[in-house]
Amino acid sequence: MIPAAFDYHRPGSLEEAVALLARHGDEAKVLAGGMSLLPVLKLRLGSYAHLVDIGRIPGLDYIKEEGGLLKIGAVTRQATLERSELIRTRYPILGDAVPLIADPLVRNRGTVGGNLANGDPANDQPAIMLALGATFVVRGTRGERTIAANQFYQALYTTALAPDEILTEIRLPVPPARSGGAYVKLKRKTGDFAVAAAAVQLTLDGKGAVARAGIGLTNAGPTPLEAMDAAKFLAGKTPDEKAIAEAARLAASESSPGADVRGSVEYKREMARVMVTRALRTAIQRAGGQ
Ligand SMILES: Cc1cc2nc3c(=O)[nH]c(=O)nc-3n(C[C@H](O)[C@H](O)[C@H](O)COP(=O)(O)OP(=O)(O)OC[C@H]3O[C@@H](n4cnc5c(N)ncnc54)[C@H](O)[C@@H]3O)c2cc1C
Repeated sequence: MIPAAFDYHRPGSLEEAVALLARHGDEAKVLAGGMSLLPVLKLRLGSYAHLVDIGRIPGLDYIKEEGGLLKIGAVTRQATLERSELIRTRYPILGDAVPLIADPLVRNRGTVGGNLANGDPANDQPAIMLALGATFVVRGTRGERTIAANQFYQALYTTALAPDEILTEIRLPVPPARSGGAYVKLKRKTGDFAVAAAAVQLTLDGKGAVARAGIGLTNAGPTPLEAMDAAKFLAGKTPDEKAIAEAARLAASESSPGADVRGSVEYKREMARVMVTRALRTAIQRAGGQ
């Protein structure tokens, strides 16, 4: 189908982009890779009179470690993450996830910021950001502010972004020694969204017990979900099979998936349990645990 008519804006700076969003209010939408937004427009699930393309604004496409943080520019393509040596060697949780997102065509266009700002609980990267304890930097007409990933997702397709705000940078704490992460996704076929998926990032202390655990779930409810009970349960525990099983059970019980073509509520909860179990085992192993 052909989308409803819109005015296309291609600002050259963030200031210009934010001003356009402020001027056009609810009638304007940020356009990044277009991989989620264009299908919405073409299927006429939504329409906006003004699209503000942030894809050509300089300085929003980078991956770098700085001041104890991994910083990713919001317009960085998923394919860039996939090819990054830094991500592959130092952030295996992202290295696991990115090749599982959609297909190469979509990853060549889709951006990290678009994946996060879309507010879709089926997108893979939000759960990872919850597990890693990420912070999002956003810019609006009132200046810059930061939002913790666990404060960002408010309801289905609804985030803490104000209409005039643009997500500009994702900040992840560089994991300390004895840390490991993993992302495990069950999907029906290549290119599909998750039936269930789990992101786990944990750090072990000198005795091999869990010093910190972060667990995020994909497609497990109306928003990306942080399995807080499971993470709290693991803190201070030796991560043996018994602890893994209980943490996975807790995470599944925190989930509230909806029934759809990918399965019933019961099936998806059970798959969430299995995904958390697998992600925990890999993360523990990568952290140098058992
Ligand atoms: C066939 C197909 C399969 C897919 N499968 C998966 C999958 O398995 N897993 C997965 O995670 N994703 C999947 N996706 C989604 C894909 O990853 C998208 O690229 C991503 O969700 C959106 O990124 P984008 O840059 O294309 O954003 P756009 O489509 O341009 O924008 C998406 C939304 O975010 C807003 N937005 C974008 N960037 C910003 C910003 N910097 N600040 C504020 N708002 C912003 C837009 O206004 C819009 O509302 C799939 C997409 C397709 C088409």
